[in-house]
Amino acid sequence: MKAVYISEHGGPEALIHGDRPDPEVAPGEVMLRVHASALNHLDLNVRAGGGYRGTLPRILGCDVAGEVVTVSPGAETSLKVGDRVILDNRIKCGHCENCRLGLDQYCPTQLRIGVDLDGGHAEYVTAPAGNAHKIPDSMSFTEAAAIPIVGHTAWHCLVTQGQIRPWDDVLIQAAGSGVGSMGIQIAKMFGARVITTAGSDWKLEKAKELGADEVINYREVPNFSQRVKELTDGKGVDLVLDCVGADVWEENLLSMKQGGRLVITGVTSGTRTNMDLSILHGRPLHLMGSGGRSQRTFVDMMKVVNNGALRGVVGRVFPLDQVAEAHRVMDQRDFFGKLVIES
Ligand SMILES: [Zn+2]
Repeated sequence: MKAVYISEHGGPEALIHGDRPDPEVAPGEVMLRVHASALNHLDLNVRAGGGYRGTLPRILGCDVAGEVVTVSPGAETSLKVGDRVILDNRIKCGHCENCRLGLDQYCPTQLRIGVDLDGGHAEYVTAPAGNAHKIPDSMSFTEAAAIPIVGHTAWHCLVTQGQIRPWDDVLIQAAGSGVGSMGIQIAKMFGARVITTAGSDWKLEKAKELGADEVINYREVPNFSQRVKELTDGKGVDLVLDCVGADVWEENLLSMKQGGRLVITGVTSGTRTNMDLSILHGRPLHLMGSGGRSQRTFVDMMKVVNNGALRGVVGRVFPLDQVAEAHRVMDQRDFFGKLVIES
């Protein structure tokens, strides 16, 4: 089959569009004919040499949408050939202590499709049947591929970690990012008031279309915490969802009200910061990392995907032989939502 894979690390030129053996369905698995797969920053890390298990070559692509073409005999699933699905790319062992406690997000041996295992930039991919979740008939594969990782991440951060409430003022960084664009939708779904940031006015207009109540151009207002305070009667926000990291860290903390919660799930602007600890001294803030995500939160998210309340946000679409170009576009960040590859 045709696939996009790496056999050594490097820049976008390390991505090979070529032939790989068709996958074989193991017991308990389904095989999908992939129709679309989306990019994540994680792909750029894996390509450049970031942490993954196993050896190369590896087919990339963590977000997968496709049609079930094979169900392994004996698989305990209601899925049938022809079903349209997306994949939860995290495969848990199911029998370690954490999995048995219902804390599968902490499964120490979990493997990720498209990172530790071959992924969806291909014609076919296999996965445990339990990782495949049906999508609405009316939703295109291209839109569906834009949902799994960023939707799951935003849901986990806002709902599970952040304990979002209808009366919360929520600051969501990077409206144009995958996590940001999903976070806006999820926060509005819970009835919260959303303040969001982006670096260009066209992205802020799109954020409003997704439901954002207030928008801030962080290039024009780098000290955005002052604007956040103005928008919240001087109090600050209850909850921050951040996928940016170092560049906005201190302003994030200054944007929070007493007792506010922050969940960080990405550090695309950098990992090191000179933090003024006096901000925390005397301000009881709850600072949380995102960490792994559970099967349960994926199931919860799929309910709102299937009732039409959560939509995939597609920025640009590329054919399978242009994944390298998509990686270059990903690096420049001049798009809104997700970059999707059609197979
Ligand atoms: Zn486990």
